[in-house]
Amino acid sequence: MSENDPLAKEKTLFGKGMENPSNIMPKKLTLESHLKFECHPGVSCFTACCHGIKIVLTPYDILTLKNRLNMPAHEFLNEYTTPVYLEKTDMPGVALKLSEDKKDNPCPFVTPEGCTVYTDRPSACRYYPVGMADFHEGQGSMGGDTDQQDEEKFFFIVKEDHCKGFEEAKEWTVAEWRKDQGVDVRDEMNKEWLRLVMRRKSFGLQATLSDQAKRMFFMTSTDLDHFRRFVFESTFLETYTVDDAILEKIKEDDVELMLFSFKYLASALFGAEKGLNIREDKVQERVEVIKKDQADTVKQSIEDYKDIKKARGEEVDPEL
Ligand code: SF4
Ligand code: SF4
Repeated sequence: MSENDPLAKEKTLFGKGMENPSNIMPKKLTLESHLKFECHPGVSCFTACCHGIKIVLTPYDILTLKNRLNMPAHEFLNEYTTPVYLEKTDMPGVALKLSEDKKDNPCPFVTPEGCTVYTDRPSACRYYPVGMADFHEGQGSMGGDTDQQDEEKFFFIVKEDHCKGFEEAKEWTVAEWRKDQGVDVRDEMNKEWLRLVMRRKSFGLQATLSDQAKRMFFMTSTDLDHFRRFVFESTFLETYTVDDAILEKIKEDDVELMLFSFKYLASALFGAEKGLNIREDKVQERVEVIKKDQADTVKQSIEDYKDIKKARGEEVDPEL
């Protein structure tokens, strides 16, 4: 496959919730199942799926793309992305910003010759036409062991009507296709973050995140430079205990920092997380502050009550 062959396009990262579920072939596939498909500059629909499409970016997509373009994350976000909510949750994320002033709203990276960031193309661009369902997604990073999770996975074909790739002769197993597309690596890099989103989704929209939690989620998932400063230049390390070995790794290594950020998000959004503990003295301090706030509120209510009684000329209970 050449750098300019924009293979597989997909409308969702998550393997389900397709915009048009009727495009999903009703057959469960395994890694050994076969599919006939190829995408190359010779197909009549070449680059059609790089137009008018919502490509949601994962933290790893942002990291690889901003490195590819040699830009700081905030510049990349500003120039190439648009804000979205992830998977019908209240979690903020970003999608590629399509060129609205051009015909058919192309992706900013598509040219008639194909994708200009092909080897660093986002995860969503790699999945089509093979989707994956994982029924352990909702359990989060702490759910079940890996073998059990693998047993719950299956694959399926998504077939868009306009896609001529299915008329090509090339045959693959699902495993071969995924390897060729670099999907296995992406799955590994994205899985903890996707589980956070799916876990949040399982709560429904009744439980809403505070604005502060949304800002924290957005910053941590989109801008690792910012997150690194947050870890090393704020009171973060006074609040959390983190192994020295981990600290050493995340100082320089962006992928390690990203994986650590998923632990932080899991801890901040859903509670205790392995390898990241809030310091006991900080928990105690917080409890004391809450207790004091409550005591002050009770005192204030009593004073208000007394004032009302006095204003009405009523007797105030001396026990109060
Ligand atoms: S990033 Fe590349 S493969 Fe993905 S939509 Fe844009 S041009 Fe197409
Ligand atoms: S529609 Fe199908 S064959 Fe055409 S460019 Fe997209 S993935 Fe390739």
